[in-house]
Amino acid sequence: MGGNSGADDPPRALSWGVHQLCCGVNSMTQLTNTPKCPLCDGPTTQYYPHAVTTEVECVRCGCFNITLQAIAAVSARHLGYKPLLSAYCRRRPQGAETPTIKTDTIEQFIQTLPHYTPPEKLDNLLELMARMTPRLGEPTGFNADTDYPLLIAQGPNEVRFLALDLDVRGYLYGPRVGPNSPPTVLLRGWERLEEIKRSGRLSNRAFVAMWFDKGTDDLYDQAVKPAIEKAGYDPLRVDKHEHVNRIDDEIIGQIKRSRFMVADFTGQRYGVYFEAGMMIGLGRTVIWMCDKKQLNDLHFDVRQFNFIDYESLAEAQDRLYNRILAIEGEGPGQFEKP
Ligand SMILES: [Zn+2]
Repeated sequence: MGGNSGADDPPRALSWGVHQLCCGVNSMTQLTNTPKCPLCDGPTTQYYPHAVTTEVECVRCGCFNITLQAIAAVSARHLGYKPLLSAYCRRRPQGAETPTIKTDTIEQFIQTLPHYTPPEKLDNLLELMARMTPRLGEPTGFNADTDYPLLIAQGPNEVRFLALDLDVRGYLYGPRVGPNSPPTVLLRGWERLEEIKRSGRLSNRAFVAMWFDKGTDDLYDQAVKPAIEKAGYDPLRVDKHEHVNRIDDEIIGQIKRSRFMVADFTGQRYGVYFEAGMMIGLGRTVIWMCDKKQLNDLHFDVRQFNFIDYESLAEAQDRLYNRILAIEGEGPGQFEKP
């Protein structure tokens, strides 16, 4: 943090408390007399105002910078915006660049979040609870009060509603015992997760659709692959050079088993259009990319999508990494398995 501070900042003595680097989400202990979080209205663990932006650390929302105008804007807007911004900030892993919320980035951040149906949210909650289970048979570390932004939920009540349903279905034990009883993922829940993973939606696999050619090796090796891996996913490159404009059963199977797709349209290959269309048909995420120089060559039908139009490999990697985090969140590769 601190990247937004500068010569215009007030002297540190005028700022709030002793500044410490925002280095992770802490427990809710040291919370007396700290200002409210502008996103979730809960207590903050760090609150450090500069002249233009304020650095905030909150157990629900994680770390973020926010301008005074943006604080006023999110307060004035429909309340539904705040939980979405909480989700955007919290879903970034430690080590990722701290987001800065400005009036002109609010919409941009919110638009990159995925929209899940209630049944998808149910699966996502089960997956989160399983990921945060230290050992098989032990209660999950997932806490509805502080972790609801990870689910892109509007608040803890939405999580409790879903948890009760997981309990009724026999996937969880705990929610019906009482609100303070931490849930445990039951074996039937782990079986359910295996089923979902086989279907691909919650696998850790990212299908890469692009023109595979000697000229595009650098794009894959230096931008696409490292961005996907850094975000915690496993890139799948169907490395068949004879597969040019030809879709076979194996590729269709791989697409079905993938959680999301990175589709790069540089070179304008028909296969990439087909694969992206298939992924949309499955209702899963496609992340659209194209060399900026070729943006005008894109087919009319796909121009409506929010393309990562890059001018360098470094830019492509950075923007792809951030887009994956915003849409899919941190990948399973970043979590310990019980
Ligand atoms: Zn917060």
